[in-house]
Amino acid sequence: MKKSLIAVSLGLSCLLGCQSSEQTNYQFQVSDLEPNLVKLASDEFQGRRPFTEGERITTAFLETEFKNMGLEPGNGDSYYQDVPMVSIVSKSAETMELKNSTASVELKGFEDFVIWTQKTDSLVEITEAEVVFAGFGIVAPEYGWNDYEGLDVKGKIVVVLVNDPGFGTEDATFFKGNTMTYYGRWTYKYEEAARQGALGCLIVHNTIPAGYGFNVIQGKHHQPILYLDDRGKESYKLGFEGWLTLPSAKKLFELAGKNDSELLAAARKPGFQGMSLGVNLSASIQVEAEYNVSQNVVAKITGQSKPEEYIIYSAHWDHFGIGKPDETGDSIYNGALDNASGTAALLALAKAFATDAKPDRSVIFLAVTAEEQGLWGSAFYAQNPIYPLEKTVANINMDGVNPYGKMKDVSIIGAGQSEMEDLLNVELEKLGRYSAPEPNPVAGYYFRSDHFNFAKAGVPALYFGTGIDHFEKGKEYGKSLQEEYVAVYYHKPTDAYDPSRWNLDGAVDDVQVLYNVGRSLANSDKWPEWKAGSEFKAVRDGYMKK
Ligand SMILES: [Zn+2]
Repeated sequence: MKKSLIAVSLGLSCLLGCQSSEQTNYQFQVSDLEPNLVKLASDEFQGRRPFTEGERITTAFLETEFKNMGLEPGNGDSYYQDVPMVSIVSKSAETMELKNSTASVELKGFEDFVIWTQKTDSLVEITEAEVVFAGFGIVAPEYGWNDYEGLDVKGKIVVVLVNDPGFGTEDATFFKGNTMTYYGRWTYKYEEAARQGALGCLIVHNTIPAGYGFNVIQGKHHQPILYLDDRGKESYKLGFEGWLTLPSAKKLFELAGKNDSELLAAARKPGFQGMSLGVNLSASIQVEAEYNVSQNVVAKITGQSKPEEYIIYSAHWDHFGIGKPDETGDSIYNGALDNASGTAALLALAKAFATDAKPDRSVIFLAVTAEEQGLWGSAFYAQNPIYPLEKTVANINMDGVNPYGKMKDVSIIGAGQSEMEDLLNVELEKLGRYSAPEPNPVAGYYFRSDHFNFAKAGVPALYFGTGIDHFEKGKEYGKSLQEEYVAVYYHKPTDAYDPSRWNLDGAVDDVQVLYNVGRSLANSDKWPEWKAGSEFKAVRDGYMKK
C-alpha cells in the first residue's frame, strides 16, 4: 500500500514538474572522487611528470578507466594525442657578474637569481651585456602604456618588475587595479622582451605582487623545463629568461647609482622612461636538450542528436614528478590537489555521463599534459584541435577541487568574461549556492590553467575555484585556508592526500555543479558567447561568422 502511494506521488510530481529536459542527473558522492584521487596522488604515480615512468603509469591508468567506463577513444581509434616537446636542462654558472666602470657585484646562482633558456644550443654565454631597466616591461596600447618607448634593448638584458602598475593602486580603472592583467604575468614579460629583440630578461621577484615566493621559482627550475617542439617554425628566442630576488635587484640598482625605492615608484607612473643602468652583466648556461613525445589522454561520449557539437571537459594530469626534497626529505611532488583532484573529478564526470541517458551533444574528456610546465598540452590541443573549434560549444576546466568541506560559494576565475558564468549561476542557484569573483585576483589565475588556451582560441571557457564562504565557519576561515594552501602546499611535496586534513564533501557539490552545467549545455541548442569587452570575443566571432 505504502509503495503504491509513493509511486502515485512521484508520478504526480513528475506530471506537474518534470520537463523532458529535466532528466534526473547523476548524484555524486565522495566515493566517486576519493579512490581515484588517492591513487593518482600516491607515490606509485611518482608525481606524474611528463616523460617519466610516472607519465606512463598515469596515462595508462586514465586510458583503462575511460575504457572500463565504456567511453569511446577520443582521437580516432586512440585514447591518446601525441604532444611533441623538448625537455631542456639549463645549468647556469654558479655566479652572475654585474659590473660598472669601477665596481662589481657577484650574485649566487639559485640563491640570488634563477636563469634558464629556451635555446637548444649546448651553451649560452652572455659576456658583459648592457643592462636596461624597462619598468614593468609592458606595451599596452589600450592603457596608453609603453615601457619600451624610446628604448633600444636589442642585444641587451632587460630588467623588469613583476605584475602591472595597477597593482596596489586600489584604482580598478588603472590597468585592472589589483586584478592582474596578462601584462602582469611572467610569461608576458619574456614574450614582450623577445619581441623587442632583447638578449635576456630578468624579472624582479616580489612575493606579494607575484603571488608566490621565490622558492616556487627555485623548485620549478631545479628540474628540466618542457616546451613544445617548434623545430621548423622557430621564432626569435631570448638568450635567457630568469628572476632576480628583490635584495639582488637592490644591489643592481645600487651599482647603477639609483635609489631603488625611488626607481620603483617612478616606474608605476604614466610616462615613465626606462634607462640603461650603466651596468654590464655576464652569465652562462650549459644546455642539454632532449626531444620527446608526451600524451594528452582523450575520451568521448558521442551525442545522440548533435554528435558534431562538442563540450570539452579538461583537467591536467601532470605535476612535477620527483625533485628537490623539502625539509622532511620528501622529494615526490604528489600534486594531490594540483591536479590529481581535478583529474579524479574528470573521471567522475565521465562516469556520470556514461551512467545517465546519452546527451544530445558529444562530450569530450581531455586530460592534458605539461600544464605545470607552461600549459603545453592544452596549447598543443588548441593549435591542433581534434574537434573543430567552431563546433566546440564550450570548455569546462578543473584544476584542483575543494578539499575543505562544504562552501556556499565558488570563486569564478575571470569573472565577467563569458556567458558560461551565467549558466553556472543558474545551476548554483538551484542548489542554494552562489558564485563570487575570485578572492585573490592579484595572482592572475585566469592565465594559469588550461582553460586559458581554449579562451585564446576563442572557445568560451568556464573555470572556477574553491569558494571561501565555509558552511559552518564563514568567509574569514575559508580565506585563511586558501592563504595557507599557497604558503604551505602549493607546488611543494606537501601537496599530498591526507584524509585527516581533507574533506571532499564540498568537492562533491562542486563536481555536481560542473556536471549540471555541462549536461544542460549538452542537452541544449545554446552557444554561450563571450561578453562584450572580453579580449577573446573577437577571435570567436571571427570564425563563427564564416
Ligand atoms: Zn600547478
